[in-house]
Amino acid sequence: MSVLLTRAAGGRAAVFEGLPGRLTIQSCPVSDLAPGEILVEVIGCTLCGSDLHTVEGRRQVAVPTVLGHEIVGRIAAMADAEAWDLSGSPLAIGDPIVWAIVASCGSCPQCQQGLPQKCSHGVKYGHERATGRRIFTGGLADICLLAPGTAIVKLPADMPLAVACPAGCATATIAAALEPAGDLTGRTVAVFGLGLLGLTACGMARAAGAAEVIAIDPLPDRRARAAAFGATVAVEPGFLAAHPAAGRIDLSVEVSGAPRAIAEALDHAAVGAAIHLVGSVAPLGSVPLDPEQVVRRLLTIRGIHNYAPRHLLTAVRFLADHGQTFPFASLVERWYPLDQVEAAFAHAVGSGAVRVGVRP
Ligand SMILES: [Zn+2]
Ligand SMILES: [Zn+2]
Repeated sequence: MSVLLTRAAGGRAAVFEGLPGRLTIQSCPVSDLAPGEILVEVIGCTLCGSDLHTVEGRRQVAVPTVLGHEIVGRIAAMADAEAWDLSGSPLAIGDPIVWAIVASCGSCPQCQQGLPQKCSHGVKYGHERATGRRIFTGGLADICLLAPGTAIVKLPADMPLAVACPAGCATATIAAALEPAGDLTGRTVAVFGLGLLGLTACGMARAAGAAEVIAIDPLPDRRARAAAFGATVAVEPGFLAAHPAAGRIDLSVEVSGAPRAIAEALDHAAVGAAIHLVGSVAPLGSVPLDPEQVVRRLLTIRGIHNYAPRHLLTAVRFLADHGQTFPFASLVERWYPLDQVEAAFAHAVGSGAVRVGVRP
């Protein structure tokens, strides 16, 4: 059963206006739903590294904005009588859901090309300038207004919030990063960078049958977590050269963005290997590339940015099957109420926690 909103409603949102570390809680109205829209009550939202960079003033965004894109919500109202999630399940009021970071139009050249994350008319949750019907597009709020064309996945009722929150960011991005590599059974995979993306890559590669998962990170406490997420060995940058897997890595998943890591991935790739670059989302410098090596060793270098809706479905299925085998819930160090959102950011920046969450 769906419910049509017949009156104006609203909620609180943590608005970022460009001053480092400052977010203000504002009450804003939301008018009646337009066709195709779904109103969601936010259950919780974890703070992604990109949110931290924005609030610290290290990443430019259009302001004012409501940040937060690792969101889990519950359907509060639907404009249309019927709607379905990506697996074809009917959606109803009260369902716990996650949704794709970009709502795409399906008809622009990028959508037609199979890159809906680059839709020219897309709505990117947690990244929009807060204005008009796009105030409630971030997870740091009581509610979120889903635009028509938003790809939704219903969550299993028993999935813990901390496990589900990253589905629409880190987990789906890693699903997109592994998909082009094909069957990983028996393969050797290297993961450069052991934040949430990297730990997810370790777990997903292992669950997909990789024989060896080599985890690389300069920080000892990050390397210490890798085994619980399926890594078979964890080494410091530069130490791969001494590892027996050097020169026979079939797939490198680079999530750190460090040029040195990309160079290391190129150095130790097997013949026919793929190097998937995910972490290079800031200008951290260039990497020397010997094209002869790329040609003679038949290397594939691929960029991955965000993901398509099918990857969100893969992400939720992975978390449903393996979200408790690997200790994802332990990665959210603390939850804050929405009115303490500044403290949540201060904690996340100061502590080095993998994730800090905000719950309305
Ligand atoms: Zn993110
Ligand atoms: Zn489009």
